[in-house]
Amino acid sequence: MTSEPSSALMPNYAPADVAFERGEGACLYDTDGRRYLDFGSGIATASLGHAHPALVAALSEQAGKLWHVSNLYRIPGEEKLAERLVANSFADFVFFCNSGAEAVECGLKILRRYQAQAGKPERHRIITCEGGFHGRTLATIAAGGQEKHLDGFAPTVEGFDQVSFGNLNELRSAITDQTAGILVETIQGEGGIRPSGEDYLHGLREVADEYGLLLFFDEVQTGMGRTGKLFAHQWAGVTPDVMSLAKGLGGGFPVGACLSTEAAGSVMTPGTHGSTFGGNPLAMAAGNAVLDVMLGDGFMENVQRMGALLEDRAREIAERHPGIIEDVRGAGLLLGLKCVIPNMDLVGKLHDAGLLVIPAGDNVARLIPPLIIGQAEIDEAMGLLDEACAQLAQ
Ligand code: PLP
Repeated sequence: MTSEPSSALMPNYAPADVAFERGEGACLYDTDGRRYLDFGSGIATASLGHAHPALVAALSEQAGKLWHVSNLYRIPGEEKLAERLVANSFADFVFFCNSGAEAVECGLKILRRYQAQAGKPERHRIITCEGGFHGRTLATIAAGGQEKHLDGFAPTVEGFDQVSFGNLNELRSAITDQTAGILVETIQGEGGIRPSGEDYLHGLREVADEYGLLLFFDEVQTGMGRTGKLFAHQWAGVTPDVMSLAKGLGGGFPVGACLSTEAAGSVMTPGTHGSTFGGNPLAMAAGNAVLDVMLGDGFMENVQRMGALLEDRAREIAERHPGIIEDVRGAGLLLGLKCVIPNMDLVGKLHDAGLLVIPAGDNVARLIPPLIIGQAEIDEAMGLLDEACAQLAQ
């Protein structure tokens, strides 16, 4: 694209000067017909790549039947997707919405209402972690606690206490008789692919149980197969009381979900929460089609295999170019290159070379390809990364 971006758009985004016309698998094609390898997946969202035949078929079929009715009526696709998520997780209940922030918002409301219904309305505060990201609504920017997201939006929503990510002692000492629960990402995504470690997750569960708090994992980025299991916390064998999902759940179609145990979710009685679009037939058709593929034989094993291959290749490159990349971290197909040079220099160089990767906090460039990625595409992408690093090192 060479024209100026439309001035009719609110100026909150600063897009790269490229527009994509179509996609196929892990590839995107821009309006000039140029091919890009997509190692960003629309920020970890196009989990099955672009134009996956199963998703195209499911959405096309549903589009010809029914788009929207609202939750005033039963929605069979919504009941089906909820039952399948429940059958494959710790959860007993699912609430559907349209985005990650809304999924988190529902979870925050559950944490407060659970304590209120238990006769402890004073327990309304939620402990969150520095470097965390939970969305852009007023409550979720307060939960994330990052100055750059809060700037100009005062007064900040009350009720969040931040502690260092990964530090259980600090977390313990932040608990008061006003604490309702703990909200954490199992791996911080936007914060720079910072893994928490299995011991930390076990510790969180113990602390939550000891103090009667609800444990809330935000798996908007890490969930839906991204780490090689359906949910990242399953690697640790720890279960939360509440979990938020979005991104990969619809394979690119907007859908979010808040999952909970029976004890936590049963406080959300009729009238306590809702969403006009949540659970709509199109989103549910997309979600069910995504699950059909992800729950298929060998899907997660392939994500694990491709994740290990990508990590190995990225590590070799980091070792060859220590002046460019100092660390490779993450799990499965959620990997971060911790850069020595400004991360945007690497992201820009790779973009020019036809490889899309996504910046994150802590000077990281994210490698988050579609989960259907193959070895040939990983080889090609890592060839481009190696070359870009060599050029940047000069
Ligand atoms: N939670 C996490 C962990 C995320 O990574 C994000 C988005 O990046 C969100 C919540 C917010 O999701 P959305 O942008 O769909 O509102």
